[in-house]
Amino acid sequence: MSRVYNFSAGPSMLPVEVLERAQKEMVEYGSAGMSVMEMSHRSKDYEAIIQGAEALVRELMHVPDNYKVLFLQGGGSSQFTMIPMNLANKNKKCDIVITGQWAKKACQEAERYITVNKVASSADKTFSYIPKLDPATFSKDADYFYICMNNTIYGTKFKELPDTGNVPLVADISSMVMSEEIDVSKFGLLFAGAQKNLGPAGVTLVIVREDLIGNEMDITPVMFNYKIHADNGSMYNTPPTYAIYVLKLVLEWIKERGGVKALQEINKKKAKILYDYLDQSALFKGTVVPEDRSLMNVPFVTGDETLDAKFVKDAKEAGLVNLKGHRTVGGMRASIYNAMPVEGVQALVDFMKKFEAENK
Ligand SMILES: *Cc1c(COP(=O)(O)O)cnc(C)c1O
Repeated sequence: MSRVYNFSAGPSMLPVEVLERAQKEMVEYGSAGMSVMEMSHRSKDYEAIIQGAEALVRELMHVPDNYKVLFLQGGGSSQFTMIPMNLANKNKKCDIVITGQWAKKACQEAERYITVNKVASSADKTFSYIPKLDPATFSKDADYFYICMNNTIYGTKFKELPDTGNVPLVADISSMVMSEEIDVSKFGLLFAGAQKNLGPAGVTLVIVREDLIGNEMDITPVMFNYKIHADNGSMYNTPPTYAIYVLKLVLEWIKERGGVKALQEINKKKAKILYDYLDQSALFKGTVVPEDRSLMNVPFVTGDETLDAKFVKDAKEAGLVNLKGHRTVGGMRASIYNAMPVEGVQALVDFMKKFEAENK
């Protein structure tokens, strides 16, 4: 077997142990006589899978009892619509911090239905930092306050949460979910598309405080109604059964490794190896201000597009793939999610050192 180190931002690397387990159970799951893909979602076997997945999310993220854990479809992007439709039920108003493409998209979608107050933006410097927030600019009557907590494309992360008082804080944690500990009780709603850090594409995890749902706009489609999904244990309709099954395997893998806190330590170590190298390199340069750097997505450049392209190509030949940066930033980006081992990051840095020596 020759698996590469895959630095893709998403869909991204999955733990090989998870893939092997799925492979083993692919044709016949336990004594079910069939694959998980072929099962009724109403069967006992499947109920155990989806309920087990929910229990593991609750355990690993210490989700308080007054929160619902939902497995939905439509990707992270559907949340850009579901959130205003379900949560903006008092004053039809939200606050948002513009820290990149995903926050912008969430903003544009919310603007179709409600008033959006853009509290701050880091667009002036290609989203290479997290703007300092002044609570005086927050709307007292907002139905929620929205942030994209880890910016997958630009490699920034909120390390301090805005103090929104009684206004529920909503966060897109697609590219950082379970990479470090998060205090769920500080949020009204958290969501994450699975394909970055939790499993295959096709399922989106939503964690929402109970009192915030059940008051959706009249126009809300039934499939976009959190209450409907919550009341039906995420099985109002056929859920993405196989994606949830693989997600459960990933959660078991996280638990076996000691949980989110243990992974957080490994993730810090991985990020440090890469940032330490970038900070002393004469060729490569990180694009984000040090205080706002993400643990998961690390963009960097040489400053020379031709050299960037050569690096991406040579790295691929060395088994380090998907290092090309997002088209809006250029250069390179290494996404080093939970499934990326320390050895993968070390291999990347070793390769960068060699490339630097050969290209100065
Ligand atoms: C990938 C990503 C999304 C979009 O997810 P889809 O599942 O493709 O809709 C949203 N937000 C963030 C932070 C992401 O990284």
